Amino acid sequence: MASFILSREKKSEKNRFFFKNALNFSLLALFLLLQSGAKGHWGFWAHKRINRLAVFRLPVEMQVFYKKYIDYLSENAVNPDKRRYAVVGEAERHFIDLDVYGDSALALLPKHWQAAVQKIGEDSLRKHGIVPWHVQTAASQLTVAFKDKNVSRILRISADIGHYIADAHVPLHTTRNYNGQLTGQEGIHGFWESRLPELFAEDYEMWLGPVAYRKDIARDIWKVVEGSHAAMDSVLLFEKQLTEGFKTDKKYSFELRNNVLTRLHSREFSEKYHRMLAGQVERRMRASVQMVSDIWYTCWIDAGQPDLGLLADAGPDQPEQDAEAAGQQTWLQRLLNVRPEPDN
Ligand SMILES: [Zn+2]
Repeated sequence: MASFILSREKKSEKNRFFFKNALNFSLLALFLLLQSGAKGHWGFWAHKRINRLAVFRLPVEMQVFYKKYIDYLSENAVNPDKRRYAVVGEAERHFIDLDVYGDSALALLPKHWQAAVQKIGEDSLRKHGIVPWHVQTAASQLTVAFKDKNVSRILRISADIGHYIADAHVPLHTTRNYNGQLTGQEGIHGFWESRLPELFAEDYEMWLGPVAYRKDIARDIWKVVEGSHAAMDSVLLFEKQLTEGFKTDKKYSFELRNNVLTRLHSREFSEKYHRMLAGQVERRMRASVQMVSDIWYTCWIDAGQPDLGLLADAGPDQPEQDAEAAGQQTWLQRLLNVRPEPDN
């Protein structure tokens, strides 16, 4: 009898173990699925690269600090994308659907946030994306962080603003047809900003010379958005034209990605498309690096050029790192809609 009870208990324990693992596994699968299907932004690779390259354009007084934390700035270049599910208000910082506002959107939209809120209303602005305003906000925050000599905040905001500036340079971040879903071109977003840079960016000329002070950040970031939007037509049109002359089995190929067979645009299709774009991806990537370093520099100048040599040894303090970890934890919880539990 005792052994029967024992074996039954063992069995139910085994079942519990099995179900717990099965549950964990399906949560993991769901998590990976949602991650891969999420609306992309400059691929992670490109974001990391842009922040890294930006460091090399800085003047020596800034390089003592930025070079020391170059891995931090590069690795954390993708944090804003990871936060999109966790932090209310994050998602809209990465894009602006200019076409929602009609043909004269750029003339209609106020360059500064307060004026825009008064004219359009905050809810409506947030719904259609706020990247050109948020870059200005983040730049003000970075200037304050430099004034306060707050190492953690300087690093965190530098990494973040690099991300938002880079996103503003992506043509498909300025349209509600952001993934070609309105024109039967699904997948074009990741194709342009992940696949193409991963295949071809190694050959891009990224030597850009020294930084420049930006006396009007609002004007400059709006120019970036305008340039992105102007490039959008060719991004969509060339893909459509090229697709017409391609059989589906030639347009796509399958490659192993993290041990998963993944459908990607074929090398042949990518090469032809890249050639049609005539250096567009390279130009947008170069301009991103240029503006990221220029803005870091401008904020430092505006803060009165604090001695970064002295700050270089301090390192990011614990609370900021914890905040980042907590942010990512809530992101996961929100995504899976699970309650926080002290032991997991
Ligand atoms: Zn983004």
